[in-house]
Amino acid sequence: MSLDSAPAEAGSPAGPVLAPGSTLGILGGGQLGRMIAVAAARLGLHVHVYCPDPLSPAFEVATAHTVAAYEDEAALQAFAAAVDVVTYEFENVPERTAAVLAAAVPVRPGPRSLAICQDRLSEKTFLSGLGIPVAAFAAVDSAEDLKAAAVRIGLPAVLKTRRMGYDGKGQTIIREGFDAGAAFAAIGAKPAILEAFVPFVLECSIVLARGLDGTVVPFDVAENRHEHHILKYTTVPATVSAATAAAAREIGTKVAAALGHVGTLAVELFLVRDADGERLVANEIAPRVHNSGHWTQDAAETCQFEQHVRAVAGWPLGRAGLIAPVEMENLIGDDAGRWSAILAEPGAHLHLYGKAEARPGRKMGHVNRLNPPPRG
Ligand code: AMP
Repeated sequence: MSLDSAPAEAGSPAGPVLAPGSTLGILGGGQLGRMIAVAAARLGLHVHVYCPDPLSPAFEVATAHTVAAYEDEAALQAFAAAVDVVTYEFENVPERTAAVLAAAVPVRPGPRSLAICQDRLSEKTFLSGLGIPVAAFAAVDSAEDLKAAAVRIGLPAVLKTRRMGYDGKGQTIIREGFDAGAAFAAIGAKPAILEAFVPFVLECSIVLARGLDGTVVPFDVAENRHEHHILKYTTVPATVSAATAAAAREIGTKVAAALGHVGTLAVELFLVRDADGERLVANEIAPRVHNSGHWTQDAAETCQFEQHVRAVAGWPLGRAGLIAPVEMENLIGDDAGRWSAILAEPGAHLHLYGKAEARPGRKMGHVNRLNPPPRG
């Protein structure tokens, strides 16, 4: 173990600080874990990845890995004993998994970031409690609840499962004349939330890091375009006013501070324009590195993965200014077959995740294009 104990004074880290040569444990072996591992290796840390999938992309770039279920307490204890701090690449870490690990080793971000962000109802309640605008919402536990919620909130509206939804999975739009039983069944008849449909003009996100000492360093606001419910393009600078960009940074900072978050975090936002001007409506918090922050690898002074590693290690964060305008394109399914042409593009930086099989909808890599030509 290579830990220097630091006193918990104001402005100094709250908890142990890692020394280079320590071991970072990562729960989850997908592309996010892989890119966290690469950033950690560059800073002289060892990395141990824990994931149930034996074909995890992150294993290839880690010092050690464990293939075991998240419920396997003996494997979790052995993992905790082998690492100096644990972080995660996904927010659906089971509560018991986090608790077993936290009994033995610091887990960063902490339990509040997980508990709030795993459940859309607690997330929306938390955001509105902070005075951050969100769509009108109501809990839905049955088809009857759905009928009542639709009357209260108005239509159209979006019905989403409270837990485990991503990339548009576990959600359906509710319109006039809807069949409540069929709609509730369509999302698997699970505890859900009904949200008013937000008539946004664009989607954006604020990605930031918060250090162990509470310092927050935001990146520039990113503008996001989805195709088939999956993020396809992120562009920076976003086409939002300076006041909106400042409001996004304020939202992100408030959220991170209220969670006591340590690490990188993203807040997904809708931009609404009406007669009164522009305003932001918060949709979702990701208490982790985020796809809409991948541009930072080539176009920010310090990337989101390095900031995350610095934060969870208890180290100072880097500056996060924009180096050049950038467009990130996700390479989904067969898109990654264009790798050779992308490598030949001036100003393009290719990132591939080492996944063997290119299934439809699967994120295979991404490309960051600096100073991109305007897209029509
Ligand atoms: P989510 O799983 O909450 O990130 O939602 C996935 C996508 O569905 C978002 O990126 C939006 O494009 C759309 N969406 C989700 N919630 C709403 C809403 N309340 N109003 C309008 N569109 C939404």
